Amino acid sequence: DKTENGWNLGNSYSNLPDKFYTTMNLNPVVSPKLAILNHSLADSLGLNAEALESEDGVAVLAGNQPPEGGKPLAQAYAGHQFGYLTMLGDGRAILLGEQLTPQGQRFDIQLKGSGRTVYSRGGDGRAALGPMLREYIISEAMHALGIPTTRSLAVVSTGETVRRETGFLPGAVLTRVAASHLRVGTFQYAAGAGTIDDVRALADYALQRHYPEIEQTDPERYLKLFQEVAKRQASLIAKWQHVGFIHGVMNTDNMAISGETIDYGPCAFMDAYDPKTVFSSIDAQGRYAFNNQPLIGGWNLARFVETLLPLLHDDPEEAVKIAQAQLVIYTELFHVNWHAGMRAKLGLFNEEPEDETLIDDLLKLMHKHGADYTNTFVALTFGKLENAELFEALGFTEWHTRWQARIESQQQSKEEVHELMRNSNPAIIPRNHRVEASLDAAAKGDYSVMERVLEVLAHPFAHTPEQAEYAAPPEADNGFYQTFC
Ligand code: AMP
Ligand code: MG
Ligand code: MG
Repeated sequence: DKTENGWNLGNSYSNLPDKFYTTMNLNPVVSPKLAILNHSLADSLGLNAEALESEDGVAVLAGNQPPEGGKPLAQAYAGHQFGYLTMLGDGRAILLGEQLTPQGQRFDIQLKGSGRTVYSRGGDGRAALGPMLREYIISEAMHALGIPTTRSLAVVSTGETVRRETGFLPGAVLTRVAASHLRVGTFQYAAGAGTIDDVRALADYALQRHYPEIEQTDPERYLKLFQEVAKRQASLIAKWQHVGFIHGVMNTDNMAISGETIDYGPCAFMDAYDPKTVFSSIDAQGRYAFNNQPLIGGWNLARFVETLLPLLHDDPEEAVKIAQAQLVIYTELFHVNWHAGMRAKLGLFNEEPEDETLIDDLLKLMHKHGADYTNTFVALTFGKLENAELFEALGFTEWHTRWQARIESQQQSKEEVHELMRNSNPAIIPRNHRVEASLDAAAKGDYSVMERVLEVLAHPFAHTPEQAEYAAPPEADNGFYQTFC
């Protein structure tokens, strides 16, 4: 039942077979203090923001006290990490329960950094304040950009320190909100550590939770589950490419069955366009580079469909054929989505055979001249083609003439073209230097920098003069920015 604080928790995940989770006790922290609370998200979840700010509310967000109706558990999962299959699980997270919202939706409420679990292996189960605030900022920015993502409800500092390579850092707990935490890796765990009955139970649960429109008696339901997940991933990854987002660690445990972006570790947005951009310090081979993301999406989906093979057809060879055909469809779907979004960024309403070359030629020029990915499209939107090497280039003049002719061949008015471009080209992304400045100030106890950045990030398509300074790329862009998990 709904409490005064608004908690209205279900625990449907715990109806899965026991091997899928371990019931947990909480690991209280010394001195929890609210660093930031997401009021609008609290409201939409049916939670009382004021109550969450109270001592009891913060105790829940710190993992010091369970919310009413919550049954804390750590989820088991496996995953391919940089291509190698490993047993993982929530090593530093617990699921408190699933909040049933006033709109009838169900969202996982997870604490990240909440202490050791049976899946912690060598880890301390804790998280540092900087990375948790970073997840908060970037996930909320993604949401504002219209990209499916887990959300951030709150960050609480723990009053404890955590030991990392760089020394002792202040600890924190993030409250993450997700459509679910079912991952490709959850299916890999079921297939590896369980039987086909476990995979079936998980697949039925995933269907019920994310694709209720598919009938529970539909003989094709497992194929449809895969198709829907592939469809959402094709759409999601295309959206990442449209805004220059690099996830950084697309291991199979970090690909959500819901189609949400999940696990903000070493992710970052690129400034200057380079398709090979990698920010993560541990991705030496560039496996998760910007232009590899669609391909890795397909690789992860192949690992997913492998777990479903016995449910697709009684004859293993037939099952493989079905799976392979689906993976081809994913690749095609990705391209359809990507091209549609890129055309919109250029103000194109329909599709012409020449568009593919038009888009590719622009990207090549941008790469050659080190053009800022975000701001190039904004400049094209507003016709402000100055102050950049790209716009002075001979090749650009030729491209621009071609693009203008293409736009004029459309029925739509100049105003309609402009409107489409405004709504397809964000001026505001979480620029690395802005994120860093927010975290530096927060580390000194000043949250005002981050709060202002969050306000601006909430309106990426506003294109107002007040935002202009936040649209600027870093002053001295030496092209080197490194992220850590
Ligand atoms: P990630 O790189 O965040 O996807 O995490 C990969 C795995 O490492 C997951 O099983 C995490 O729960 C686990 N993990 C990451 N950090 C810690 C930590 N500090 N303590 C325990 N487990 C961790
Ligand atoms: Mg992960
Ligand atoms: Mg992580």
